[in-house]
Formats: sequence, C-alpha cells, structure tokens
Amino acid sequence: MNSKIWLSSPHMGGSEEKYVEEAFETNWIAPLGPNVSGFENDLEKYFNKNSNVACLSSGTAAIHLALIQLGVGYGDEVLCQSFTFCGSANPIAYVGANPIFVDSEFETWNMCPKHLEKALKDRIKKGKKPKAIIIVHLYGMPAKMDDLLEIANKYKIPVIEDAAEALGSTYKGRKCGTFGDFSILSFNGNKIITTSGGGAMVCRSEEDKQKTIFYATQARDKAPYYEHTQIGYNYRMSNISAGIGRGQMEVLDKHIDLRRKMNAFYLDLFKEIEGITVMKELNEDYHSNFWLSCILIEKEKTGFTAEMLRLALEKENIESRPLWKPMHLQPVFKDCAYYGNRESENLFKKGLCLPSGSNLSVSDIDRISKTIKKFISRF
Ligand SMILES: *Cc1c(COP(=O)(O)O)cnc(C)c1O
Repeated sequence: MNSKIWLSSPHMGGSEEKYVEEAFETNWIAPLGPNVSGFENDLEKYFNKNSNVACLSSGTAAIHLALIQLGVGYGDEVLCQSFTFCGSANPIAYVGANPIFVDSEFETWNMCPKHLEKALKDRIKKGKKPKAIIIVHLYGMPAKMDDLLEIANKYKIPVIEDAAEALGSTYKGRKCGTFGDFSILSFNGNKIITTSGGGAMVCRSEEDKQKTIFYATQARDKAPYYEHTQIGYNYRMSNISAGIGRGQMEVLDKHIDLRRKMNAFYLDLFKEIEGITVMKELNEDYHSNFWLSCILIEKEKTGFTAEMLRLALEKENIESRPLWKPMHLQPVFKDCAYYGNRESENLFKKGLCLPSGSNLSVSDIDRISKTIKKFISRF
C-alpha cells in the first residue's frame, strides 16, 4: 500500500525542537514562560502595528473569551457565518447566547453582506439587536471585509474575526487577523502552522490583551492569595506548545508559498476539465494562504459527484474531504434562525477539499495527479 497522503499535516521547520528543549532546560514546563511571550512577540511583529496578541489553548477558547469581553451573555443574539467549522459557533452556546446564522456569497464563500444586512434589519425589527458578528475567512480566502465592516459600523456592532484558517492571508494588502474588534487564530494540528494544539487572540489594544490573559488564567485579582471577583477559564497556552509555535513562525512565509503552489497545481490540473472549478482569488484585492485547495464539481457536466471522487482518492490512500457542512444544517443548531439563499448548502453539495499541505513531495503530487486523471477518464 502506498503511504497516506494527508489533506493537511503538520510540517516542522527545524527549530521547533530547539525552543522546546530550551523549555526543558530552564524547567519552564507551564502555561506561561519565555516561549509564550516569545511567540506572542513574533506574532505581534508579523501583524505589525495595532495588534496585541495573547496566546491561548485553542482558537475556540479565543472566540469564547472574545464573546465574554464583548459582554455577550444569556439570551443575547450573535450573528455568525453559517459556512464554517463548529469552532466558530459553539462558543456562542457556551455563553448561553443564540447563534443567528448568515449565508455565504459565491465569490469568496464567506459571509454575504446582503444577507448580513437583511438579518440585522430583521433581528432589530423583532426586538433584539445582535451583540456581535462572527466573520470567517474560510480555507484562507479573505471575506469581503470592506462591505461587511461598513454594515457592522453602520449598526455599531462589534466584529469577531475568525482568522483560524487565514494566518498570512491579506485583503487589500492588510493582513487577516487585523480587521476585527477581536481576531482569533488557531494552531491546531492541521492548520497553516501548528503548536500541536493552540490558538491566539489578536487584540487592538494592550488593555484588551491583558484582559484576555486575565480571563484565560482563572480571573485572578491582584492579591497575594487567590481572590476572584469574576469567573475565569484555564485557557492559556503552554510554554512547550509556544516553543513549537516559535519554530513554525520561522517557516510561515515559506509554507504559504508552498500551499499557493499546490493551488496553482490544481488550477493547472483542472484547467481543461469542464464542470470542475478550483476555488481562486476574485481579484488582486484578495490574497489567500490557500490553507486548503477546494474544487466544485458540476455533476451534470462531469458525470460524477464530489463524493465519487473522494472515494476514488481514498482507495489510493489519498485523503480529501467534503467542504464544511453549514451550521444551519447541523442537528445541534436546527432550531436557530438562518438568513440566506442556500448558497452554502450548494457549495457543501458540490465541493471537495484536496490535499494541500506544504510538505507534499513531488511523488505525492504525481500520485494525486495520476489518480485524479485516471478517475476522470472513466467518464
Ligand atoms: C480550526 C478552526 C477554529 C477553532 O480552532 P481550534 O484551535 O481548533 O479550537 C475556529 N474556526 C475555524 C474556521 C477553524 O477552522
């Protein structure tokens, strides 16, 4: 059997172990330490101005703490992109609020400005103004931020920017992770860089960063003993994980180049196949890290479905995956309100994510190409 080709697997750069070893040598085996502040520094430098970073245990934890800091609580409403991973939406339930799902547009696959405004007007008419808007840059593709932020500003509603998949992507030259009142990152195992598991909150002020760290370390008041006037969480990143993150920062740009090359490879592979489109940037305003390369398959034109291609790849030990199943279709969220026109359902039906890692070898890529070509030639 050929070795497994993964959708997106960890890709170490080489210095990760050095930072982790330092943690052992200095006995900083804790959810704080020099690697944590070092990794935060690296990220702050990467984002340049106006970004204060707090490293946390996961991206989901970061969204949870963003909601708390925006004062979202029991019975409140939060607008959330429906086409996303559950980590964007679950924290709304953690705080006892109600998610209101908003559909995507076809150009970036992210939150549709028209549906957002429709949802806002209707929720306000029904008597409740939403407390926050969660916007996602799915698969690394930046959302239509100008239009979305204009609406958020018009209604004066804070934005949580879910950049879990979009570290290194830019919109009009500005880095994803710098647009929200709070922005979040994820360093889970299969993301663009990994700390084995982890996340971060990118804040717009040092004060917000300190508040985030306060909530992430059990909300300890200033006293020699343990005193608490608020409920806190154990959400800080460990010094071991942060060591991996520091090593990963050294290769981030190189790995983004490699992922972009994978996208170019798929654009070329499918360029003459009628009925298959590769997800690509709408125009030069959009620069994606192409965390994952995705395609849409029109069965009427190709004669096969995304699921049939997925199974053919699986047979050759190549991992591919359907697009995220929209949140408004998830059994756990079935009673939540939804505003849209079934765009994301359509994408979910036709789409497939293909192996996109920065560590795929020439022979891996050749195997992917041969398997796909052989499959397509049967139709
Ligand atoms: C991965 C991911 C998250 C959650 O991050 P974790 O670190 O896995 O908790 C949130 N939103 C999106 C869009 C993601 O892809």
